[in-house]
Amino acid sequence: MRLSRYFLPVLKENPAEAQIVSHRYMLRAGMIKQQAAGIYSWLPLGYRVLKRIEDIVHQEQVRAGHIPLLMPTLQPADLWRESGRYDDYGQEMLRITDRQKREMLYGPTNEEMITDIFRSHVNSYKDLPLTLYHIQWKFRDEMRPRFGVMRGREFLMKDGYNFDIDRDAALHAYNRHMVSYLRSYERMGLTAIPMRAASGPIGGDNTHEFLVLAQTGESEVFYDDRVTALKLGQRDIDYDDRTQVAKVCEEFTTLYARTDETHDAGVFDTIPEEHRKVGRGIEVGQIFYFGTKYSESMGALVVNDKGERVPVEMGSHGIGVSRLLGAIIEASHDEKGIIWPEGVTPFPVGIVNLKQGDSACDAACAGIYKALAAKGLEALYDDRDERAGAKFATMDLIGLPWRITAGPRGLANGVVEVTSRRTGESEEMSVEAAVDRIAQIYAAH
Ligand code: ATP
Ligand code: MG
Repeated sequence: MRLSRYFLPVLKENPAEAQIVSHRYMLRAGMIKQQAAGIYSWLPLGYRVLKRIEDIVHQEQVRAGHIPLLMPTLQPADLWRESGRYDDYGQEMLRITDRQKREMLYGPTNEEMITDIFRSHVNSYKDLPLTLYHIQWKFRDEMRPRFGVMRGREFLMKDGYNFDIDRDAALHAYNRHMVSYLRSYERMGLTAIPMRAASGPIGGDNTHEFLVLAQTGESEVFYDDRVTALKLGQRDIDYDDRTQVAKVCEEFTTLYARTDETHDAGVFDTIPEEHRKVGRGIEVGQIFYFGTKYSESMGALVVNDKGERVPVEMGSHGIGVSRLLGAIIEASHDEKGIIWPEGVTPFPVGIVNLKQGDSACDAACAGIYKALAAKGLEALYDDRDERAGAKFATMDLIGLPWRITAGPRGLANGVVEVTSRRTGESEEMSVEAAVDRIAQIYAAH
């Protein structure tokens, strides 16, 4: 993409309404525009990151054996009357009446609808296990929408629902979700710690929240800091292997890590003092096992291998896709702007032409752009007729992890500069070497 032809409405001034750094940078980098309290348009740069996060979530869910579908945002109120949640949900639910005076709602989540789909089509244990998920907009009329996309009213969520014949199979589904979530967050450059949570309105006895440590997080967290060093890495996971998947979950949930809702000071105090930490975290996901809560109330029954009709065992599992942009920025920025992890960056690399209109500079930049494209990498090429300082400031603000800078002096010696946004370190090399270097970095992502 050539910046001169792109739509990147960067703000020079700090927007007064933004209280935390991620909100400030998302507005300044022209990623989002607020349309109403807690409701945003996703401008091109923000939309690119949102799509990359969605892609990672899809890939890891499919890898775990989960099946994508798409349910609507609007739902009939009657479905929610069956589960009893139409009245329970309260003011967070946006209720709508259509022209036929039918009561509808903008879905805050989809347990009822997925249970309805399931009961319409599945009758036998032979069709299980089954996990269906979608990535769809939700609406919750939050009392205090704030911090930009972190606590929106309209927000994008991945929500998945498992259907299993018995408790053991459902707990395996729970574990699959935990592992696939850990892998998803790691690919986004995040450390998200599974913490035992209280169950809340969805109900159920087994639930973990995934928290990204950040000063600006809304949850107070208590943890053994050795938990932050755990990494899934590239290990090969067989999602059908119950023992292996359960072992990974055990590895990530044995050290103490809890939110204030489940915190137990007595247990916490047994952690060696140098590892005992209190901090704040951003909830980027949550998994629940809730058994037959919805299948009983909504009549989602299956015939088991003894010929009996039993309510199906279920769980639901969510990732805050749009909130993740904020969480990633909170975890990865400096005073100049965002620092995107390679896994989610809107463009892999920026090209800065130090002297637009100089034939050697223009030709070198165009050549780099083309060579990167041939390797499947779409660079953001700053071809505007701007001062070098302004170009660098824009690149630093929007946070592309790598920059290639071409100027008349370097090109006279046959070199361009490759700069890491994270370390600020630059290295001179030939155009070919620069393109190879960037391609090599992204080969792993
Ligand atoms: P919170 O405690 O932050 O209100 P929640 O526990 O009510 O969230 P869940 O029902 O667990 O939310 O939804 C799954 C995920 O969706 C959450 O872990 C979070 O990442 C995201 N999410 C929930 N509410 C919002 C919101 N208002 N804006 C953006 N993302 C949200
Ligand atoms: Mg939650």
